[in-house]
Amino acid sequence: MLYQRSSALFKEAQEVIPGGVNSSVRAFKGVGGTPIFAKSAKGAYVYDEDGNRYIDYINSWGPMLLGHAFGPVVEAVKIKAESGTSFGMPTAIETEIAELAVEMVPNIDKIRFVNSGTEACMSAIRLARGFTGRDKIIKFSGCYHGHSDAFLIAAGSGGATFGTPNSPGVTQGTAKDTLLADYNNLENVKQLIEANTNEIAAIIIEPVAGNMGCIPPKEGFLNGLRLLCNSNGILLIFDEVMTGFRLAKGGAQELYSVNADIVCFGKVIGGGLPVGAFAARNEIMNYLAPLGPVYQAGTLSGNPLAMAAGLAMLKTINSDKDLFKRLEEKTLYLHKGITDVLDKSNIQYTINRVGSMISVHFDEGEVYDFNTAVKGNNNTFKAFFHSMLNQGIYIAPSAFETWFITDALSYNDLDETIAAVEKFTKEMA
Ligand SMILES: *Cc1c(COP(=O)(O)O)cnc(C)c1O
Repeated sequence: MLYQRSSALFKEAQEVIPGGVNSSVRAFKGVGGTPIFAKSAKGAYVYDEDGNRYIDYINSWGPMLLGHAFGPVVEAVKIKAESGTSFGMPTAIETEIAELAVEMVPNIDKIRFVNSGTEACMSAIRLARGFTGRDKIIKFSGCYHGHSDAFLIAAGSGGATFGTPNSPGVTQGTAKDTLLADYNNLENVKQLIEANTNEIAAIIIEPVAGNMGCIPPKEGFLNGLRLLCNSNGILLIFDEVMTGFRLAKGGAQELYSVNADIVCFGKVIGGGLPVGAFAARNEIMNYLAPLGPVYQAGTLSGNPLAMAAGLAMLKTINSDKDLFKRLEEKTLYLHKGITDVLDKSNIQYTINRVGSMISVHFDEGEVYDFNTAVKGNNNTFKAFFHSMLNQGIYIAPSAFETWFITDALSYNDLDETIAAVEKFTKEMA
């Protein structure tokens, strides 16, 4: 495959945009090479500036659950744009999508729309802190909750209780209020709570982790967190920016029958436009301005184009009875196909899968937290990534990302993908 135009565009972009990208994950830093510039996309495919076609497993990092340029979303946005793109006044469509979201998601009474997943998580912890009158939060190593300061805390070494910032610009003052626990380790959470009695406002978690590859919660883990929160006056925040409207209509809360106190959304809820949201029961949401004291606002929040896209998306998801079954079947088919191919090679691997989230880790041990996720062989991943890319299969340029399966993928696409993995094993032999 030739990437001449992408290379030229990247060169030009680097002159005026730091690193040539507006989100660092788009750079090929982890895998080497030059980012591919997208030109258009339809259904399961994305086309680059050089005219190459890829079967897409990033899907804008999650939003395109139903495939690119999904008809009803495109139509809804076109129609809305004709009547004005932003007003700074309430609009009827905001209530319409809020009513639908509240109907689809268990255990929430009210929802507030923002512009990104970052904003949703950032606002959710402010609300949790305001509501409980406490400052500290617990997050899990390897979980991503957007790029606001409180969440950019890396794993501290050994017994360190306080996180250290993993980005300059995050102050020690902020870092000391973010406590780190290991994913799937209840004992660890218990210890943090005991060491910080009556100081912890919230535990925030990706109920299925997706930002260190796909890592499912162990049996009883989420419920264990629920019980710990109940007995210690701590709010449980499910960051469902990735899992919301993807794993089930009601997201991970529905899938695992565990109720969170605050739920964050993004990605699918905007159908590909910039949308985030956070939701909770009345008691908590009424603590938010203008009803309550916790401030939150946004010039473009609830933007009509974004709401139109999100509403078209949620309506389809809500009315398509077999959607989640189809997604699960496609993902399982891919899982089996890749397993068969890799088993015939001597490449060590582990595949994790929940619903339409799947990831291939190049290590044979069980992957259940950040430490086990980073054990994967990154050289194998780099070779894998470039082999797949050259064969027209686009996966995220990082070993720590989930593949996002969409309903637009056909079984032919999946077979083509499995065949590409087989070719990769031959290249490696
Ligand atoms: C993507 C993501 C975010 C951040 O959302 P943005 O829209 O990129 O700000 C937060 N949490 C999780 C779990 C995510 O996957």
